[in-house]
Amino acid sequence: MDRPLFTARLQQKLMLSAPAECYHLEFSIDELSHFDFAPGQFVSCVAVDERGKSQTRAYSVASAPRANQFDLCVNRVEGGFFSNLLCDLEPGQTIPFHGPHGLFTLRQPLTDAIFIATGTGIAPLRGFVEWLFPESGDDRSQGRTIWLVYGTRHETEIYYQKYFQKVAAERHNFHYLSTLSRPHEGWEGLRGYVQQHVGEIVTARANQNHSAPVITVAEPAGFDVHAYICGLNDMVSANRSKLTELGWQRKQIIFERYD
Ligand SMILES: Cc1cc2nc3c(=O)[nH]c(=O)nc-3n(C[C@H](O)[C@H](O)[C@H](O)COP(=O)(O)OP(=O)(O)OC[C@H]3O[C@@H](n4cnc5c(N)ncnc54)[C@H](O)[C@@H]3O)c2cc1C
Repeated sequence: MDRPLFTARLQQKLMLSAPAECYHLEFSIDELSHFDFAPGQFVSCVAVDERGKSQTRAYSVASAPRANQFDLCVNRVEGGFFSNLLCDLEPGQTIPFHGPHGLFTLRQPLTDAIFIATGTGIAPLRGFVEWLFPESGDDRSQGRTIWLVYGTRHETEIYYQKYFQKVAAERHNFHYLSTLSRPHEGWEGLRGYVQQHVGEIVTARANQNHSAPVITVAEPAGFDVHAYICGLNDMVSANRSKLTELGWQRKQIIFERYD
């Protein structure tokens, strides 16, 4: 069965990083007045290549639901077909897509959570953060503690840094950590791979819970913390291994792989 195709029209294009050639793209949808999706889902963009073959690629929505609009965060892949097409799009131009798709969404009931990303894997996590901590309207975080651990190679590749820093400054229960795997000499922030810092958060949280007063009321069944991991397969695997080593169960770990 053919899926309905919608027309995404580029409204705004911002460069997030010149060295990484990464863009924040804001679209509106010609056919819809409201685009209904869960934060974290992706759209499938469709285009015909130079050989006349239809190509489809997935892109995570980098925003929370907002009327008939959605944002993408796309970096140019050398020699890649679709990333170049999207990065070269100019305001007013369109791209067909179907969706929303995917199960990389916040589990309910909401628990404490560690969001983990590298590179453009930050896209769906930006959607989560916008939804949990909206600029206007009610906070949806229910007081849960949320950590965002974001890893890149260089400082110039930390996308949306000001946005996440602002949310962290305004919300006591949102913690933002960015770490560089290839920092320059003067870099004063965190260093190393994301899984190292994820391990520290999990251990500190476990120690804190052990020293907390014993709760006599029965806890509802289920987990009290989840991890949401998004990015390339190697990073996703490294974090899943780290968390299982630390005793986490598979159902606590939700992930989206880009390759
Ligand atoms: C669920 C999902 C969500 C995604 N969300 C995003 C997103 O929000 N932003 C985003 O930029 N990308 C995202 N991607 C990746 C995206 O779908 C494409 O794979 C990527 O843009 C490359 O497509 P291309 O047509 O330019 O490259 P292709 O023509 O398909 O490939 C060209 C070459 O690049 C390599 N390659 C493919 N993908 C990548 C990659 N991601 N990084 C490095 N090298 C690669 C291939 O192995 C190949 O050698 C997502 C993928 C999935 C599965």
